Amino acid sequence: MGLLSEGSPLNWDETKRYADHVRKHGIIQFLNIYHKVKDRQKDVLKWGDEVEYMLLSFDHEHQKVQVLLHGEEIIHELQNRGEKSNPNHPTLWRPEYGSYMIEGTPGQPYGGTMADFNTVEANMKFRRQEVFSLLKVNETICTITTFPRLGCHQFTQPVHEPKPVESGASKSLFFPDEAINKHPRFSTLTRNIRHRRGEKIAINVPIYKDRCVSSPFVEKFVNDDGEAARATKPDHIYMDAMGFGMGNCCLQVTFQACSISEARYLYDQLATICPIVMALSAASPFYRGYVSDIDCRWGVISASVDDRTREERGLEPRKHSKYRISKSRYDSIDSYLSKCGEKYNDLELTVDDEIYKQLREGGIDHLLAQHIAHLFIRDPLTLYAEKINMDDANESDHFENIQSTNWQTMRFKPPPPNSEIGWRVEFRPMEVQLTDFENSAYVVFVVLLTRVILSYKLDFLIPLSKVDENLIVAQKRDAVRQGMFYFRKDIYKAGNPVVDGCACTQNGIDLDSEEYALMSIDTIINGKTQTASESEESQMVLNILQSLNIPTSNLVMEWSLVKRLKMVRPSTLL
Ligand code: GLU
Ligand code: MG
Repeated sequence: MGLLSEGSPLNWDETKRYADHVRKHGIIQFLNIYHKVKDRQKDVLKWGDEVEYMLLSFDHEHQKVQVLLHGEEIIHELQNRGEKSNPNHPTLWRPEYGSYMIEGTPGQPYGGTMADFNTVEANMKFRRQEVFSLLKVNETICTITTFPRLGCHQFTQPVHEPKPVESGASKSLFFPDEAINKHPRFSTLTRNIRHRRGEKIAINVPIYKDRCVSSPFVEKFVNDDGEAARATKPDHIYMDAMGFGMGNCCLQVTFQACSISEARYLYDQLATICPIVMALSAASPFYRGYVSDIDCRWGVISASVDDRTREERGLEPRKHSKYRISKSRYDSIDSYLSKCGEKYNDLELTVDDEIYKQLREGGIDHLLAQHIAHLFIRDPLTLYAEKINMDDANESDHFENIQSTNWQTMRFKPPPPNSEIGWRVEFRPMEVQLTDFENSAYVVFVVLLTRVILSYKLDFLIPLSKVDENLIVAQKRDAVRQGMFYFRKDIYKAGNPVVDGCACTQNGIDLDSEEYALMSIDTIINGKTQTASESEESQMVLNILQSLNIPTSNLVMEWSLVKRLKMVRPSTLL
């Protein structure tokens, strides 16, 4: 969840008082960055992965596995032995939400050569080994998306009983506050989300019904003051703490684009791929000790940080809240950023009008202004007393405060002030896999995909409402084999969308369903049998490659969206 500020966190009432201040200065900080770096061009491909890990403890005698609450000490040791003693150390370690979680990234970004791709798995293996060497005999580090017994009796090592008291962070019946990372950012986030929302968060996941599950499946909770009984739904697994969501692990990729336009183009294109890769990587069927009827964490985390009031969620008429808000802070993106995407922006977008005006007057175009003004409908969730007044020309803490607590499928990231870093895009939907081999395969796939999109000017765009429908399908059990997803039929476009602004602004905009169709993931990834005109097209592409003297003998990728383009030399991709 990013770097951590040190200091004294304010409580919700104090933070709320500064919300407008944070937003106002956040926008000034964004404008300052934008105007300094909007014309940056020709940044090279640099990229990195983030893997989130769980620490586990095994009790073989009693056949028990528990999450190990030693993340803070392990991080401290890893940093001391690593980045603090050698700036070129190959790994970086950061804390994550759970006290049993840690996050590892490569020490330096990877570059854009084929050789770089070959180092990813080795770096991941090195990370795992680095942690492993600090653990005791019965302890291990594991890349699993959800710990199956999270929230069950005595699931932590050392054991802590949950204390559902108002003064606690989660007030959970199942998830003790001791399982939250000890850095104050995490408990403050937890408490402030609950206080802003006005009640405990509530997650209900459908239970998998086999013959051993009673019908209806209804649970009774000890220690409940009535809140759980009101929030739980029959035939669902009920969870009541941020830790049930943010205590899960994922796999993310961030890459640097060559310019702001390329970043906006790739942000949009990859947004359509999020549900597909989410379903492909789905790895989380177990919650609170039960087998669920979903296999993906997304909706669970979304509910776990849903800080909207009842009015914002539309459950009560609006009296005190400024807006009705349709999604949690952790959810899919709500608007495309590139000119090509504009006509597919069919979701109703709640924006802060004042901020939109401030941005437009500050020289920001409509699409980017509405994106930022939409992120900025949210309140800051944590604020440190020492960090209220910032130097807006050289710092971006207030901008990052709101930006980094909008946990969307994609994140568009402006460069940090006064840095060498360019415009970046983060791909966030993937679930973490058990092995380094799989995790490196997924991240390399995503980065190669960006090269293919750029090289062949592919266009995956469909209306965003359809991407949202896909995201619901992606979380259903076995969506990878059974789900049908809206996907664009013709993905080839002439022109250069990055340079020309948009390749697809032909006269007349037809949003008719002809542009996309329902496809299985098999068809989307592997393609279907070529029709006569498609074979003609492949032959044409092959001829062009040959006429350009590009050798077509080196097959580097068997991915079928490009399979039709047959053999491609690596250097043309990168
Ligand atoms: N653990 C979160 C997830 O599974 C992501 C937190 C982060 O953004 O680092 O999506
Ligand atoms: Mg993380």
